[in-house]
Amino acid sequence: MFTIVINSIIIFVFIMKEIKFYNNYKVQSLYGRYIINESIEPVITKYSFNIAGYSVNNLPVYSLMYGNGDIKILLWSQMHGNESTSTKALFDLLSFLENYGKELKSKISLKIIPILNPDGAKNYTRENFNNIDLNRDAQNLTQPESKILRNIYDDFKPDFCFNLHDQRTMYSLDNFNSSVISFSSPSVDKIKSETNSRILSMQIISSIYEKMNNIIPGNVGRYSDEFNINCVGDTFQNLETPTILFESGHYKNDYQREISRKFVCLGLIYALKAILNSKIDYKKYYQIPENKKQLCDIKIINIKVKKDSGYKKTNMSIMFNEKLNLLEKKIEFIPVIFEVGKIHEIKGHLTINFSKIDKIFNLNASSSISQITDYIDKLRNIH
Ligand SMILES: [Zn+2]
Repeated sequence: MFTIVINSIIIFVFIMKEIKFYNNYKVQSLYGRYIINESIEPVITKYSFNIAGYSVNNLPVYSLMYGNGDIKILLWSQMHGNESTSTKALFDLLSFLENYGKELKSKISLKIIPILNPDGAKNYTRENFNNIDLNRDAQNLTQPESKILRNIYDDFKPDFCFNLHDQRTMYSLDNFNSSVISFSSPSVDKIKSETNSRILSMQIISSIYEKMNNIIPGNVGRYSDEFNINCVGDTFQNLETPTILFESGHYKNDYQREISRKFVCLGLIYALKAILNSKIDYKKYYQIPENKKQLCDIKIINIKVKKDSGYKKTNMSIMFNEKLNLLEKKIEFIPVIFEVGKIHEIKGHLTINFSKIDKIFNLNASSSISQITDYIDKLRNIH
């Protein structure tokens, strides 16, 4: 018992140190959800970078090289233009390596594409300028961005690939915990065969999980590994390159994803260290809890809604639509009613009880959502 307590204290002190230390190398100039070429240009010029090609709408797709070791790792972010968290984390990682990672730097060579889909980033869309999801174009390679990634893969011949994405706020784990970060070792076939490359990816993920679950216990998950050869991760894994999917998720109240960015950065550092010396049993991968979809942004309980000539008391879930405000270059979160009813199996990142509100809301009126959010703000004392 005594040793367990001492061990927990040691781990806790170590974690606090590591989290505090992150601020020493975080790239402060990158902030928020709207990360585009102009955001990264002042930072990327500090590194050995080039233009790997051009997007559909003729924006440069940058790539950079870092490190001089033998183990080659290819990393790409913002294949989905509106998934920017790991782009910030990638530059944090580089800053970490530059300042504190001499040994790592000497053993690995990173090829990084920070924004694979710069048109999608600029318009804040998942798809590229032709409305194509690049993560369904790995086989047909119809889009210039898909070709750029594939050409780099073929030329660089990576030993490992890191495929970096964002997941929505609805993803949960056991006990309705938010899935703050999740990982997957993409499948190579429908029966999810354990090939050598898959096993190696599973081993690295297990090693990352072991560390990350100490930092945010219960908030680290396993993303779906349903096979789809049109997805880039599945294609590269199929070509026998160990590939890891990273999914940045939602941490409480962190809609700018500045906290989950830190966890992605730590996850990347742990992944690189695991590549160099992990001996963990890959089967631990299967013990990582799988993502579920059991969360909404706001859950309202006991709200009175108009029904016939009277009202009924019910619950509702609200999700935020992410909308680009081009003038202010930021993302706005627009609440929309997602579901109305019992929804016992859904919890909210925020739960508000409307039992003391006498107003009856008419959900058929277009103003109903703004009236509801006014009351939410009042109940939370936000003015
Ligand atoms: Zn994605």
